[in-house]
Amino acid sequence: QKAVAVMTSGGDAPGMNANVRAIVRTIINKGARAYCVMEGYEGLVKGGPEYIKECNWEFVRGWLSEGGTNIGTARCMEFKQREGRLTACKNLIDAGIDALIVCGGDGSLTGADLFRSEWPSLIKELLDTNQITSELYERYKHLNICGTVGSIDNDMSTTDATIGAYSALDRICTAIDYIEATAYSHSRAFVVEVMGRNCGWLALMAGIATSADYIFIPEKPAQTNSWEDQMSEIVTRHRANGKRTTIVIVAEGAIDNNLNPITCDDVHKVLSNRLKLDTRITILGHVQRGGTAVAYDRILSTLQGVEAVNAILESTPETPSPLIAVNENKITRKPLMESVALTKSVADAIAAKDFDKAMSLRDVEFKE
Ligand code: ADP
Repeated sequence: QKAVAVMTSGGDAPGMNANVRAIVRTIINKGARAYCVMEGYEGLVKGGPEYIKECNWEFVRGWLSEGGTNIGTARCMEFKQREGRLTACKNLIDAGIDALIVCGGDGSLTGADLFRSEWPSLIKELLDTNQITSELYERYKHLNICGTVGSIDNDMSTTDATIGAYSALDRICTAIDYIEATAYSHSRAFVVEVMGRNCGWLALMAGIATSADYIFIPEKPAQTNSWEDQMSEIVTRHRANGKRTTIVIVAEGAIDNNLNPITCDDVHKVLSNRLKLDTRITILGHVQRGGTAVAYDRILSTLQGVEAVNAILESTPETPSPLIAVNENKITRKPLMESVALTKSVADAIAAKDFDKAMSLRDVEFKE
């Protein structure tokens, strides 16, 4: 009987619990043993039955809608070092794990891919230093891994949606609806900061969904010499048309074309000093991560969880590690390495000021 473990890693996202639930139950359904690794890579490095826990069907009951991740997540510096990954390798063998499914962002999936490619040399070292027997070496010579993408930012290339992105977007829209009511009453302007470091998806989609006046995103940066004039002209025009509210959305990672950050304070200054609008700043922060998963995330997590288990049980030592994606409403498998590399190339394109390339790599069609 095979044993498959699942873990969540990196930033938490609504839908991670639904993903773990679907993975655990599909593993059991396929006749294998299901394990949860607690606290992300930290649990892998710590090891033992407290951190690499066998789970039954009931363990994940009620998890379908819950936000956050019930099996914990952590940033783990030790796993970034080979020594930490060697310990993790030993712990997985001790627990009898054959394969690992990681639900996380691009950092976590980079770590997972590295772990798999390094596995043959890690396990050989354990054999050579007499930490495992030759029987165990033969049995666990290969580790298959599979990735599902949990990230509220929707920042992974090659997939249309990441688990948690639509829940965070829904939270942002609700918050802006609340703000609209008070902004309307006082005829105020609000500058709203949303999450998204290298990725402006949340800001862009929230801008469309709430009819914001102006947005700032990293992939299409504000022009140093003209953004203040352009924003002022647009806001003034909207006000002249009778609008009593002004909403400007700023992604956490917003920049200008010289890569200088654009902050809420920068925007506030223009609206307040130049346009004389009564302006407030609202930083939504971790509220965006909280609450239950929206229906789309529950469905995406469940379908992708089933596919992740199918993919890992079909994997051979030669199969490139799969990443479970969604493309044009179909659940698909992508080579994890390529998805991670493409995602990194967006950040590289932004750093190199090649913003057209950054936008094209995001798979968002953007027509003026
Ligand atoms: P996310 O998965 O949300 O992008 P992080 O980048 O913080 O979040 O990664 C989460 C964890 O994954 C890190 O704390 C670390 O343990 C592991 N990790 C990230 N990048 C690497 C890497 N290049 N090599 C090994 N482990 C990594």
